[in-house]
Amino acid sequence: MKSIKQILNSSEYNKQISVNGWVRTKRMSKNVAFITLNDGSTINNIQIVVDADKIDFAILDKIHTGAALKITGELIKSQGKNQNVEISASKIHIYGEANPDEYPLQPKKHSLEFLREIAHLRFRTNLFGAITRIRHAMIFAVHDYFNKNGFYNIHTPIITGSDAEGAGEMFRVTTLPPKDAPVTEDGNTDFSKDFFGKETNLTVSGQLEAELAALALSKVYTFGPTFRAENSNTSRHLAEFWMIEPEIAFADINDDMNLAEGLLKYCVKYALDNCNDDLQFLTKRLINEEKNKPQNERSELNLIEKLEFILKNNFERLTYTEAIDILKNSKQNKKKKFKFPINEWGADLQSEHERYLVEKHFKKPVILTDYPKEIKAFYMKQNDDGKTVRAMDILFPGIGEIVGGSQREENYDKLYSRIKELNIPEKDMWWYLETRKFGTVPHAGFGLGFERLMLFVTGMTNIRDVIPFPRTPKNSEF
Ligand code: ATP
Ligand code: MN
Repeated sequence: MKSIKQILNSSEYNKQISVNGWVRTKRMSKNVAFITLNDGSTINNIQIVVDADKIDFAILDKIHTGAALKITGELIKSQGKNQNVEISASKIHIYGEANPDEYPLQPKKHSLEFLREIAHLRFRTNLFGAITRIRHAMIFAVHDYFNKNGFYNIHTPIITGSDAEGAGEMFRVTTLPPKDAPVTEDGNTDFSKDFFGKETNLTVSGQLEAELAALALSKVYTFGPTFRAENSNTSRHLAEFWMIEPEIAFADINDDMNLAEGLLKYCVKYALDNCNDDLQFLTKRLINEEKNKPQNERSELNLIEKLEFILKNNFERLTYTEAIDILKNSKQNKKKKFKFPINEWGADLQSEHERYLVEKHFKKPVILTDYPKEIKAFYMKQNDDGKTVRAMDILFPGIGEIVGGSQREENYDKLYSRIKELNIPEKDMWWYLETRKFGTVPHAGFGLGFERLMLFVTGMTNIRDVIPFPRTPKNSEF
């Protein structure tokens, strides 16, 4: 059977066809009724014309928003101005009814908060249909980009035995009973009795393992779920999110920045080329939302224009030190408008600072490099100044950090001494260190948070709305 998307694009008039879908709206008059049907293949509905001469109108009493139907009928050129084709029904089969007194989704505007509470049904809204289709397109674009550029996809472990990745709080994985877990002589939980014979956690990143593969296959990437048990209830953090992590050998930080900029632009272009109907819908939705805002708070560019803007401009590249100067001397800082004022070199940048640089100062994406080593991970390549590392973060409008990456420290002695300085247990790191003993090469990589990319492409503002089933503190329903 053809999808609604296929039917809307076809012109096989006056032929009998069948179509499946869920009712979005029903309008009745005396002798004719109109049902709009959607099957998720496109944001557009197909209009079904129900004529009293062909169909017993009694069936219409059972058909309401949300019901699932199979319609058989003739495809005809539409007289209406909203669609090209419609189906004149000769037969209606009801798969499943939806009682209008109970079905929570009615053809009116529902708040995003309300839709989060009914995540089992929100796929059926225009908005979440559009987001879900775009999410699929972006997953495909990511794999397409790497495949076209000679990368190999590798699966890195989800359960990890090392807690040295240093990217945040982790979720423990255990089969020990929560009560009466075995204890060692000194009273701690005895993880040698646990499933893996040691403490294990859900991974916060696939990077360390991706590096191992890159040091043989040259260009690899992982695209998998990552988990962070940070108790931060922000609109940009999830406890479970998907991360794209390429790793390239024989490469430095400039190659890394070029790769990341290339990937982001490819994904945005892919969305513009392949998700036009959904992007048009999201763009109109945002324009409507902004009507409630005062004139000076409305954005200059609409969603599609913002996406096109990304393609046309190079990302601004500067060092952390240069960025601190800009921030320190900004009006915002002098007027004490930052929640975290910038006083000195070495401060970690908060999202308010990142957004100032991107949205107010440069008005385009920014790549910051060469951060103080104290605020970055142990594996980043140390610069000759002894103070900074070859990190690079990409900051996006409306989002802040979308990519975090670096050139990796490939020198055994330097890496080893950093691990010692930071008291990272060597027993967890022996395999990582060995790659620096045997055929080590300059290499680099980054992590792109997939849901942050989705925020940008859809113009949504809460990360809970760009993943089907968000995991956040106190929220694991569905
Ligand atoms: P942030 O400073 O925004 O908390 P981070 O510096 O902790 O991020 P990294 O460890 O560098 O993040 O992770 C790489 C990328 O993964 C980030 O640039 C971001 O796009 C994404 N990311 C990180 N944490 C989360 C999260 N909790 N939810 C969704 N995406 C995330
Ligand atoms: Mn980061």
